[in-house]
Amino acid sequence: MTELANEVSRKIRDVPDFPKPGILFKDITPVLADPHLFPRVARWMSDQFRADGIDHIVGIESRGFILGAAMVEDLRAGFVPARKPGKLPYQCVTIEYELEYGSSKLQMHTDAFTSGGRVLIVDDLLATGGTAAATIDLVRRLGGVVVGCVFMVELGFLDGRKRLDAPVKSLVTY
Ligand code: AMP
Repeated sequence: MTELANEVSRKIRDVPDFPKPGILFKDITPVLADPHLFPRVARWMSDQFRADGIDHIVGIESRGFILGAAMVEDLRAGFVPARKPGKLPYQCVTIEYELEYGSSKLQMHTDAFTSGGRVLIVDDLLATGGTAAATIDLVRRLGGVVVGCVFMVELGFLDGRKRLDAPVKSLVTY
């Protein structure tokens, strides 16, 4: 791991049995609260796709909003939220996807970007890959070109990146 990845890894707090028994939650709030570390993380995430001409960052609710918004200036990209149902006010396209237990949905506005727009998908953590895979589908349904996906953390043992049909980068892998 790089020095930055080591620093981030030391700051991430493991919270057992949150939000339900058996889940080891990776709490990134100590990284966000660090005025030196958070900007370096956002810069690293931007660096991975800086040469790719990103038009829009799609941030996945809700921690993807925080990280994605921190990257827009650096990449000179617009920001588009992928949200849980019932939050976006205008016409939406919806995708339903399977979780370990049950299913979930994500929505984006139908006019979020123009067809052919080059999109970078951002979230805090890649686990099974279900959420990011659904977001890739959603972006493609709207005619977007998925240039890649970038995460602060990847739970490598879950092999989530195998489900993502796009280039994937992550700073810290467990
Ligand atoms: P998945 O669809 O399984 O890749 O899950 C990814 C989404 O769930 C991301 O938005 C993460 O923020 C959240 N998530 C899943 N597992 C964890 C975990 N162990 N710690 C923190 N967040 C998690």
